[in-house]
Amino acid sequence: MRFEGRIYRPPSEADSVLIQLTVGCSHNRCAFCAMYTEKRYRVRPLDEVWEDVDAAARLYPQAHRVFICDGDALSAGVETFAALCGHINARFPRLDRIAAYTNARDLLRCSAEELRHLRSLRFSLAYLGLESGSAAVLELIRKGASPEDMIEMARVARDADIALSAIVLLGAGGSALTEDHIRGTIEVVNAMQPKYLSFLTAMIVPHTLLMTWMRQGTFTPLTDRAILHEARAMLAGLELRDTLFRMNHVSNLIALGGRLPGDKTALLRQLDALLPHAGDSVSCICNEEEGLML
Ligand code: SF4
Repeated sequence: MRFEGRIYRPPSEADSVLIQLTVGCSHNRCAFCAMYTEKRYRVRPLDEVWEDVDAAARLYPQAHRVFICDGDALSAGVETFAALCGHINARFPRLDRIAAYTNARDLLRCSAEELRHLRSLRFSLAYLGLESGSAAVLELIRKGASPEDMIEMARVARDADIALSAIVLLGAGGSALTEDHIRGTIEVVNAMQPKYLSFLTAMIVPHTLLMTWMRQGTFTPLTDRAILHEARAMLAGLELRDTLFRMNHVSNLIALGGRLPGDKTALLRQLDALLPHAGDSVSCICNEEEGLML
């Protein structure tokens, strides 16, 4: 199996077989993201990808889960993605899930029939970097999608029975847009009703626009206290019917998790207990030595 460059996958895919269909991210413009700045986007030669699947199947014949890399593998085109899913199905007899990072643009480009076809090939989990539900924040961070796109994406995924794992970035709007970020995110996440929801913190890493703007003084990152306030305010406003919530990424100040709505009161209580102890320091800035974090 071959991999080009640094490979990222969600923590919950730690035990999955990784297959790299695309290199990098076709968008590669988000103001906070340095994950794929070192890579030039392309679809890998398909014969090599198919060989990788065969090699992985020889090594892990009992594997249940496969994660397709890199940042937006569906950008290879739905036919290519479906052909790969078909090949993975043929090689892993115990397969029960294929997952990938996705974005609103690629999913909305698929017809309902194409999405149902992908689902029949066990593509059942799409990770989405929602980041924010605020139009102003999404524009600031150059996400390339609107709140309406995000809601529509959730609808088409739900109609095809593809589960969504949505990621919200605390602090993505800096101090200027924090209230907008809270309000918009509550509204959009409530409309999306994702099966999984994670709060991460926007880390300010080298080689990103956020780092440049911060140095120029046009972006003010949130203090630790303000980040916890955002998390608390968003969580308080969420009205989710059945969502597994996590806030336990390496970028988070604390580790929290539970099922919503049942655990909401306990989660809020934990944040309330912590808030008085949170300081005015800004922990979300990474220097060169600390490397890249997302
Ligand atoms: S956050 Fe996702 S969509 Fe944006 S540049 Fe990074 S990998 Fe691409």
